[in-house]
Amino acid sequence: MPSSTNRPTPDLRPATITVTGGRPAHEPDAPLNHPITMASTYVATGDLEYGRYGNPTWAAFEEVLGSLEGGRALAYASGMAAVTTVLDLVGQGGSVVAPRHSYSGTVMVLADLEARGRLRSRLVDIADTEAVVAAMKDDEDCALLWIESPTNPALELADIPALADAAHELGIRVVVDNTFATPLLQQPLSLGADIVVHSATKYLAGHSDVQLGALVTSDDEVLDALKSRRDLVGAVPGPFETWLALRGLRTLHVRLDRAQANAAELARRLGEHPAVEEVRYPGWGGIVAAVLAGGAEPADRLGRGVRLWVHATSLGGVESTLERRRRWKAEAQTIPEGLVRLSVGIEDVEDLWADLEQALDGAALARQTGR
Ligand SMILES: *Cc1c(COP(=O)(O)O)cnc(C)c1O
Repeated sequence: MPSSTNRPTPDLRPATITVTGGRPAHEPDAPLNHPITMASTYVATGDLEYGRYGNPTWAAFEEVLGSLEGGRALAYASGMAAVTTVLDLVGQGGSVVAPRHSYSGTVMVLADLEARGRLRSRLVDIADTEAVVAAMKDDEDCALLWIESPTNPALELADIPALADAAHELGIRVVVDNTFATPLLQQPLSLGADIVVHSATKYLAGHSDVQLGALVTSDDEVLDALKSRRDLVGAVPGPFETWLALRGLRTLHVRLDRAQANAAELARRLGEHPAVEEVRYPGWGGIVAAVLAGGAEPADRLGRGVRLWVHATSLGGVESTLERRRRWKAEAQTIPEGLVRLSVGIEDVEDLWADLEQALDGAALARQTGR
């Protein structure tokens, strides 16, 4: 197994870890990057043995992400493969307290597992710490607290340290979906979480060309349980996808810096635009939510009216995308009809604004004239 012996020392800063982590050792003629290892099996009696159990390309990606989050990472075939792996740890009949505005796929899989009698779920307002603690206390079968912060797409923030403390006092495990924040803006393990979930499809890979997920934990027992679920269920990532995500990770800090600067400026300008009723922006990150005055119709017009922005779902890519979230039947009914989620990319902010403004003006005009 090619080893990555240039393990980043713990005192390296994140921007250095993203660039230098998980590389082959500095030896004459060693490539700077791990090759993509296409292998379904390995010569026997080593650590890997078979393609479903491990892969050197996964290991390089996992090393960088683990260092950034302060734990040990495992790569999965998608964010949802990672989500369902964590839910698999909940015992039969156990219950999960989760944000009502979690990623819609997470809410859907909870509902599916509940319908099949596997577990129960209680959906809460994750920003209301007292209500979340009460929901956990109220349910003696509660085994897992699911946190997403900021939530997708309402952008509510959870008090992770307070919730983790309260959960641990009750013997409840804490998981944080850190897809929106990335480990550069929030490290849930250091805030008390037991497991971190990522859709690496989004910011970590960052170029809208990969589906990948990951889990991170600093608890060896939990790591073994998660790894054995990956081995048995087989939700394993492709080596090429993992390599692309690792390549994307190399620039995470630079992409996020620019996306964040653009997002803060666009949030400010959107807030001053008459077609926009409300802007939600937690003050950091690259996602902005704008609630358009007049609901679904002007929001749909915005999606049709943009030329530079792409009307598309998903987020965290270098290119700016937007969509009205309630166009999805599965989106929570408490999300406003006119809410448009903007995933701000790394283009020039003036070009992004000019395109948004022309599309917003069109949407506002349509509303006034009833067209
Ligand atoms: C996209 C997303 C997921 C699911 O990830 P996939 O890679 O699409 O399976 C989970 N959580 C959040 C917050 C997401 O945005």
